[in-house]
Amino acid sequence: MTEDEEAIVEVVARWVDDEVRPTARDLEHADEYPERLIDQMKQMGVYGLTVPAPWGSSSVSLRCYARITEEIARGWMSLAGAFGGHSVVSTLIARFGTDDQRERYLARLATGELRATMALTEPDGGSDLQAMRTVARPVDDGYVITGSKMWITNARTAGLVALLCKTDPAADPRHHGISILLVEKGPGFTVSRDLPKLGYKGVESCELHFDDCHVPADALLGGTAGSGFAQMMAGLEVGRIQVAARAIGVARAAFDDAFRYAQDREAFGKPIWQHQSVGNLLADMATQITAAQQLNDHAAACIDTGRRADMEAGMAKLFCSEMAATVTLDAIRVHGGNGYSTDFDVERYYRDAPLMIVGEGTNEVLRNVIVRQAIGRGGLR
Ligand SMILES: Cc1cc2nc3c(=O)[nH]c(=O)nc-3n(C[C@H](O)[C@H](O)[C@H](O)COP(=O)(O)OP(=O)(O)OC[C@H]3O[C@@H](n4cnc5c(N)ncnc54)[C@H](O)[C@@H]3O)c2cc1C
Repeated sequence: MTEDEEAIVEVVARWVDDEVRPTARDLEHADEYPERLIDQMKQMGVYGLTVPAPWGSSSVSLRCYARITEEIARGWMSLAGAFGGHSVVSTLIARFGTDDQRERYLARLATGELRATMALTEPDGGSDLQAMRTVARPVDDGYVITGSKMWITNARTAGLVALLCKTDPAADPRHHGISILLVEKGPGFTVSRDLPKLGYKGVESCELHFDDCHVPADALLGGTAGSGFAQMMAGLEVGRIQVAARAIGVARAAFDDAFRYAQDREAFGKPIWQHQSVGNLLADMATQITAAQQLNDHAAACIDTGRRADMEAGMAKLFCSEMAATVTLDAIRVHGGNGYSTDFDVERYYRDAPLMIVGEGTNEVLRNVIVRQAIGRGGLR
């Protein structure tokens, strides 16, 4: 990262300590939409981190983007989730959009005036995307969409949805019939339900219905039908690095709390960290977090140098999310009974961690991606 980027990460880290950490617990327990903090993120340029000039003025390298995400998730994972899908959609439009689509959306996405989300998952499944049932039927002046999507984060607050759908359900191979449509709210498109969740409170994850929803022909990302699957897989590399960074941020918060607690709390006449079992937990947590940071930084650096990084981003998401699940449980162990109390934050980290195992491609599916890539490359190259 450049010196400027280091300085940006520092500013965000200070904002997290001053503004986010003191309020996150209350907002989480109230399941309250964090309007004020989201407005501050817009002012800091967080919504434009993946929007290049001339449309955005705050774009950074992916390594820096990951570090910023990590800091924000250290404060409250939900806030990092509030711009994850948005960053992927911005990347998709910047990379694959037509000139008209870039002009229409990117400047407003950069400021956060317009927010975006991506809709892949359906009620019948999210891993087997090529079996999706949402269909956009070509008509004279565009497409008519029918189908449902599930678990779509920020769906109420987003004004733009990058919808993965079938424009040719009979295509063989199936992925050649998949496209991305840039859909704005309108007749035939309803956000029908907010889904109840274990954690990740404050931001909404919803079910969407498309009932003969008409969109114009220029809603097709890039203007070429049948490219959507490949486009989305490229966008998901950014998404997976963001999810990995969220996991690291949550784990760092868990470590910081456990580290402090283990020095303040005494048992048998000494601080609990001096009991070897507790000290070992802290040592393992610190080691795992540091390894995770290196892995995610490596994956982000691959993309920064213009390489495809399915395997690297997959490894980062897999390792970092499993690490976060372990570290957050260990933080509860260090806190003893207080770890189970909602008066402390570690129970929140523990509830938030599993999302990173499931989201942006489950870890089981990512293992398939990693081994396929490794075989294709002839090993670890
Ligand atoms: C809070 C939250 C927010 C989300 N936000 C979004 C969003 O904004 N946009 C969006 O599109 N989606 C979103 N998702 C959906 C998420 O990406 C999916 O839940 C995920 O991809 C898994 O899909 P599924 O739930 O349908 O599980 P399924 O696909 O039904 O999988 C069930 C189980 O089978 C396993 N499995 C399936 N296929 C294979 C295979 N080939 N090999 C090995 N194991 C396999 C899976 O790993 C999993 O363990 C969100 C989910 C949650 C919980």
